[in-house]
Amino acid sequence: IPRKESDFEKNDEIYDAQYFGYANFRAYQKEVIDQILDKRDCLAVMATGSGKSLCYQVPPLLLEKTAIVISPLISLMQDQVMSLKQRGIRAEFLGSAQTDGSVHTKAQTGHFHLLFMTPEKACSTPLSFWLKLLEAGICLFAVDEAHCISEWGHDFRVEYKQLNKLRGVLLEVPFVALTATATEKVRIDIINSLKMNNPYVAVGSFDRKNLFYGVKHFNRSLPFVDELVQEISKYARKAGSTIIYCTTIKDVEQIHKSLQEAGIKTGIYHGQMSSKAREESHRSFVRDELLVMVATIAFGMGIDKPNIRQVIHYGCPKSIESYYQESGRCGRDGIPSVCWLYYTRADFAKADFYCGGNCDNCMVSKRERDMSKESFLLMSCIQSCEGNWGLNMPVDVLRGSRAKKILNAHFDKLPFHGLGKDYSSNWWKSLAYQLISHGYLVETFRDTYKFVRVSPKGKQFIQSARPDHQPALILPLTDEMAE
Ligand code: ADP
Repeated sequence: IPRKESDFEKNDEIYDAQYFGYANFRAYQKEVIDQILDKRDCLAVMATGSGKSLCYQVPPLLLEKTAIVISPLISLMQDQVMSLKQRGIRAEFLGSAQTDGSVHTKAQTGHFHLLFMTPEKACSTPLSFWLKLLEAGICLFAVDEAHCISEWGHDFRVEYKQLNKLRGVLLEVPFVALTATATEKVRIDIINSLKMNNPYVAVGSFDRKNLFYGVKHFNRSLPFVDELVQEISKYARKAGSTIIYCTTIKDVEQIHKSLQEAGIKTGIYHGQMSSKAREESHRSFVRDELLVMVATIAFGMGIDKPNIRQVIHYGCPKSIESYYQESGRCGRDGIPSVCWLYYTRADFAKADFYCGGNCDNCMVSKRERDMSKESFLLMSCIQSCEGNWGLNMPVDVLRGSRAKKILNAHFDKLPFHGLGKDYSSNWWKSLAYQLISHGYLVETFRDTYKFVRVSPKGKQFIQSARPDHQPALILPLTDEMAE
């Protein structure tokens, strides 16, 4: 590695051989490094595992100046610092958790190649520190996980917005923003927020070639959990780490318990655990003391584990972007890995309510029929239950159940009791989800409970119907209805 700026040639071998030992650069690494060396601002939007870090790790080694790296998570920085030190690179983390006072002094004299900070630390560091370090030499200011800058991104952090204050201090220093997910809107936000000047924008491929994706329908029932546990235990024992993302803490706890009972070393991680317990769980997972981590999406950024072989979603993620990010935590080392998404129809009910009716999936069906009679029956029954129940109660009433809760509420006296027994519960629920997506029924959430009631549109439908004739309501036959 040449020591002076004038010494270096922009040549692959010279860039990477000594510290990293990689045979070649990956896509965009060399281009971004070249631009940084030319002091140009850069925005690198490259997939997880594509090697973004190298873009800010190489310039300080070539130029013998310090690179400042802003990162949102202390654990993430500590991991990076540790692996850089192992490669003989002078790296350190500067933050309130840093107990060694000499680090601060060394840092401002330009001792470190890479100096990691949280955005809060960078913004609260006194001007005198920056001026001293500038004199020693700062070769770049990198903002990792840069999508946190944007309110349009999925992990907005208000402190990231303050980083542009440093623009006026670090005058000649190129700013380098890096992220794995950024829509056009988020990219513009990053560029504007960091006041980037004619930045070089590198957008890599988002195709993770080593990841297999699969989607399966499931029923949220105990036999299914047992089946899932069996599948996971088969896979986890031979293949390596698995993350199971659940949509609720209740699901996390249930699956965690079932896996533990099956004798699989399983960790748990969710937002209601203490930060100490979460850290311990994370650490055990990283150290391969656990085979499986069952978590909510609180187990998020900073999972920099290369050998995660399987990411399972037990229930749908919030958006396609979240799914890319969450499933993308597997196979960072490039080895074939799998992502399974298990969904129930109910997972889409909320999304359908807001986006329903705007795509061919909702609008076009090869098998449709007039379901006005059944819809009339279901909506009238839901109305009689007065909106105080989820779907199970009205469906059970229609199917003629004499369960205690039905007798206690005197719903067995309703004229609809038993009129829908020719169809299964799933059939009725499937019809209900369609009526929700078409705006005849509305689902509301109170705490973790869901309630269903008839919307004004649904009431209008009921009122305009006569017992022997309802206005036509053509709906597609779903898989559940065909069963
Ligand atoms: P990202 O930050 O984009 O998610 P990382 O910088 O953590 O990705 O890199 C992912 C993995 O790829 C790391 O294990 C890293 O050592 C490796 N890597 C980076 N660049 C190269 C390269 N040019 N050749 C081989 N491996 C590389």
